Amino acid sequence: MKAVRNAPPGVEVVDVEEPSGDGELIKVAAVGICASDFMYLRWGSTYIAGHEIAGTLADGTPVAVEAIMGCSECEHCAAGNYQYCATTMTSSLGMTAAGGMSEYFRAPRRVLTPLPAGLAVRDACLVEPGAVAWHAARLGQVGPGTRVAVVGAGGIGMLAAAAAQAMGAAEVSVEARHPHQQRARERIGATEPSGIYDVVIEAGGNEGSLHRAIELARHQGTVVYTGAFYEKTDLPHMALAVKEVALRPSQGYGTHAGRRDFAEVAAMLAARPELPELLITHRYPIDDAAAAFVTAADRSQGVFRVVVEP
Ligand SMILES: [Zn+2]
Ligand SMILES: [Zn+2]
Repeated sequence: MKAVRNAPPGVEVVDVEEPSGDGELIKVAAVGICASDFMYLRWGSTYIAGHEIAGTLADGTPVAVEAIMGCSECEHCAAGNYQYCATTMTSSLGMTAAGGMSEYFRAPRRVLTPLPAGLAVRDACLVEPGAVAWHAARLGQVGPGTRVAVVGAGGIGMLAAAAAQAMGAAEVSVEARHPHQQRARERIGATEPSGIYDVVIEAGGNEGSLHRAIELARHQGTVVYTGAFYEKTDLPHMALAVKEVALRPSQGYGTHAGRRDFAEVAAMLAARPELPELLITHRYPIDDAAAAFVTAADRSQGVFRVVVEP
């Protein structure tokens, strides 16, 4: 079968054996490209790429695939917090394990979320980044009446805004720098930030966006950051202290009160077809995966998500 393998600094399409062994065989329909994929390339990964995966089972069921699989046996997995499982770092798709940017992929049944009516399988690669955003909003305890701001208007940021709306937030604002982001903000019914907020979700992944998020938080407000800060990051300690802002890291996704983040996001996307329409800006066949990665890295092209369709 065809597969897209990391070949730093880019990717290459190769012919590999179909995956065998345990788990369900999935005919892959769509795989999104995100910032982590570029991180894995920088770190020198030569695994098959792809962790934002959707496809169809042999019986025709369309599914979205959780990229955090866990071991299913430890205390964290038992509690539904599989993002804390010790296996997470050694089974990271596209980094320390073969990802799903290939014609077929195998995954245990427990990580598959059947899609609700209204969400097309080729759009369901958004469920994975959506779950990252959903988990962040849940950790921020967003609910009816909460005023929420999002800093960083990429795919995750827009999905975080939509998650906050779905949770009943009183007001959702998104700080958007580029024109396509401002148009998308308007389209989803979010506003430009003004004033201060109960919860600020940081989705920019850089020091500047973290500082801005802290600036937008009210006294005793919460800043949830989804960015993975691998390098030492400077914090505005005085601003944090003076406002007693709580800084809350958010990592991956899991379950909240027994509900899978994946199921919640699949339902949200099915209810709001404008989200996939807005956020999947480019689609490439698998043979053109190298070009897909070039487009995904180019900030000038109005990109939210670039999707490879095997
Ligand atoms: Zn991702
Ligand atoms: Zn585990």
